[in-house]
Amino acid sequence: MSYKLFIPGPIAVSEKTLRAMAQPMIGHRSPDFVALYNSIQPDLQALMFTKDPVYLSTSSAWGCMEGAIRNVVKKKVLNCMNGAFSDKWFDVSKRCGKDATALKFDWGQPVDPDAVRAELATGQYDAITLIHNETSCGCMSDLPALMAVIREFPEVISIVDTVSSFSAVPIKKDELGIDVLITGSQKALALPPGLALLSVSKRALERAAALPDRGYYFDFLEFQANHEKGMTPSTPCIALIYALKSKLEDIKAEGIDARFARHARLNQTVRDFLFAKGFKLFPKEGYGSISLNCFANTLNIDLSALNKTLKTKHALVIDGGYGKLKGKTFRISNMGDETDATIAALLKSLDAALAETPVLAAAG
Ligand SMILES: *Cc1c(COP(=O)(O)O)cnc(C)c1O
Repeated sequence: MSYKLFIPGPIAVSEKTLRAMAQPMIGHRSPDFVALYNSIQPDLQALMFTKDPVYLSTSSAWGCMEGAIRNVVKKKVLNCMNGAFSDKWFDVSKRCGKDATALKFDWGQPVDPDAVRAELATGQYDAITLIHNETSCGCMSDLPALMAVIREFPEVISIVDTVSSFSAVPIKKDELGIDVLITGSQKALALPPGLALLSVSKRALERAAALPDRGYYFDFLEFQANHEKGMTPSTPCIALIYALKSKLEDIKAEGIDARFARHARLNQTVRDFLFAKGFKLFPKEGYGSISLNCFANTLNIDLSALNKTLKTKHALVIDGGYGKLKGKTFRISNMGDETDATIAALLKSLDAALAETPVLAAAG
C-alpha cells in the first residue's frame, strides 16, 4: 500500500527527485563525479550561509553527530538536552569516551541561553552540542541568542544539529559563528535517508588536527583533504547526490526566501486548524517548531485509532508521539515540498478522521 508521510522524517519524496536518483552510475574518482561534487558546492554554501566547504557524508546525521564529538572534544563537552535527540547526544559523548556534562531542560522547553552561559563560564569546556529544532517534541530553541552566548567563549567549539530545520528556516552559519553544522537528507530537504551534510569551520579543523583519535570514516581532515579534490573520503551514495543536485535546483527555482516563507505559512495553517479543534502546542509558547508541529493531546483522543483511519482511509501518516510522548502528543511535518494545496488536502482528511476518532476515558 502506498501512502504519504507527514511524519517529521523521513518525509515524502517527489517524483522528480526519485527520477533524479535513477541515473547511470559514475566512478567516484572520475572527472564526472568531481564535476557533480563541485557543481553543488556553491548552492550548498548559499543555503548554509557559509564560505566554508560543505562535506557530503554517506551516513545518517548521527554519523556526523558522533564524528563531531570525536573530532573536536579535547577537554570536555557541554551537551544541551531538551528532547530525545539531544538527550541521546550526551549518551553518545560518553560512549566516545569523552568527558561530558548534561545540561538538562524538560522536553518541550527551549535551551536557555543564561543557563548555557553560567555553565560555560566555569571554564571546563572546549565544545558544546546544541539541537536547533528538537524534532521529538517540536521545540525550536533561539539559535541566534544561544550562539551570541557561545561566542563569548572563544575556546568553545560549537556543534549544531539542524537536522530538521535546515532549509526550512534561515540558519546563517558564518554570521552566527557556528563551527560545525550538521544536517540530514530525509528531513526538510525531502530526499531519501542516507546522506548527511556537514560544514566545518577552520577553527574546528584546527582542533581536529590536535586530536589523535578521530577515527577514519568521519575524520574532518579526511573530508577536507578529499573536498579539495572535489571528492569524498570513501565511495558516496551517488544516487542521493544526484537527488541533492535536483533538490538544489528546485530550491533555487523557488527562491530561498520564498521557501522559508512557505514553511512558516504552512506551519501556521496546520497550527490554526488544530487550535480551532481545541488542541495546544506541546512546546513552550514562542518556541514551537516552524518545520513541524507537536501538539499536546489535550482532548485525550485515541491517537492510534486516528492514525489507523488516516492510513487506511486517507493514505497518509502522521506521528503519534515520540518515545515517552507516545499517545500524549502528535506531530505533523510541514517540511519539504508541501504546498497550500497539499496541506489543505491533509487538513481535510484530518478533519474527517478526527470526526470518527474516539475520546479515551479519563485515566484513573
Ligand atoms: C532525525 C533527527 C536526527 C537523527 O537523524 P538520523 O538521520 O536518524 O541519524 C538527529 N537530530 C534531529 C534533530 C533529528 O530530527
